[in-house]
Amino acid sequence: LSPQYVRAIAPYPPGKPIAEVARELGLAEHSIVKLASNENPLGPSPKALAAIDNALLDIARYPDGSGFELKAALTRKLGVPGGQIVLGNGSNDVLELVARAFLAPASSAVFSRHAFAVYPLATQAVGAQGIEAAAHDYGHDLDAMLDAIRADTRVVFIANPNNPTGTWLANPELLAFLQRVPENVIVVLDEAYGEYLPQDKQSEALAWLQRFPNLVVSRTFSKAYGLAGLRVGYGLTSRGVADMMNRVRQPFNVNSLALAAAAAALDDTDFIARSYALNQLGMRQITQGLLLMGLDYIPSFGNFLAIRIGNAAAMNRRLLEKGVIVRPIGNYAMPEHLRVSIGLAAENTTFLQALESALKEQA
Ligand code: PMP
Repeated sequence: LSPQYVRAIAPYPPGKPIAEVARELGLAEHSIVKLASNENPLGPSPKALAAIDNALLDIARYPDGSGFELKAALTRKLGVPGGQIVLGNGSNDVLELVARAFLAPASSAVFSRHAFAVYPLATQAVGAQGIEAAAHDYGHDLDAMLDAIRADTRVVFIANPNNPTGTWLANPELLAFLQRVPENVIVVLDEAYGEYLPQDKQSEALAWLQRFPNLVVSRTFSKAYGLAGLRVGYGLTSRGVADMMNRVRQPFNVNSLALAAAAAALDDTDFIARSYALNQLGMRQITQGLLLMGLDYIPSFGNFLAIRIGNAAAMNRRLLEKGVIVRPIGNYAMPEHLRVSIGLAAENTTFLQALESALKEQA
């Protein structure tokens, strides 16, 4: 009964849940290591937890549908006025709001091969056509993306850093790209992993909002802020684009616990610094372990790593048998790579040991 474009959508394969793997192996849940969804291994900021406690008292009421407090906190931190902020139920919701506001069956969206899987999903769900541009060394090839833009293209999606490859584009490249994209094409700059960039590589995109009303910068509280389960993200754009996105937004799309936690987490700069430092250490730990095993990986600017493993589906099964959940990325046209999220030192060690023993079994 669904339209053909809905039936044509390839379902999004989420990471296997801990409870399911624990049951299959007959193990306790705490003995499973999950490094599959690029979550923050530190958990949430204590300030966010305290804010949730407080917000619980009010859950009989609807959330503030305008997200006044969270937007005010974002304005204080980022200097972007509330009228240019769109809140989402996770940043996936922000991506979907762009698709719903700007795409239709007669239009198209451009994204890169190996880019985040929700771009084709959001595009196809509204009946628009997805155009996949060729990648360069697994990362975005902005020239190829420009070439892919057609007269009916209304949206371009770019993830920086990209998931699952961890590749990153420098500010000058992106700025040059924006200057060449037609004004009637929305450019979504998805910065879900922006907090994991070192100081000298931080995004300058907010400074471009004034000049490019077609720019949407999307960010999330799911990664470095450690609030993936609450589902909250935001888009920063021009007033006009924000207005269109808000028209297609569900009135209460972000729940009250998420609103409160996100506003509190935003002030916890200490927590972000700790998350960044832990990720740097874990990244070094895992890449050094991989080098010792002679394994190749794509250098990553995120909190995860794509490792070339050969038959990744088979290796994924072996790791699951050892209670380690990672992510095969065959759905990203990368059947030889496994994506592992950076965890706590002990989790990274468990992963490396499981990988080493699985490689020996295979040999
Ligand atoms: N963008 C990218 C590049 C991602 O990897 C993710 C999470 N997998 C998201 C957006 C969406 O995250 P969320 O909806 O939790 O904000």
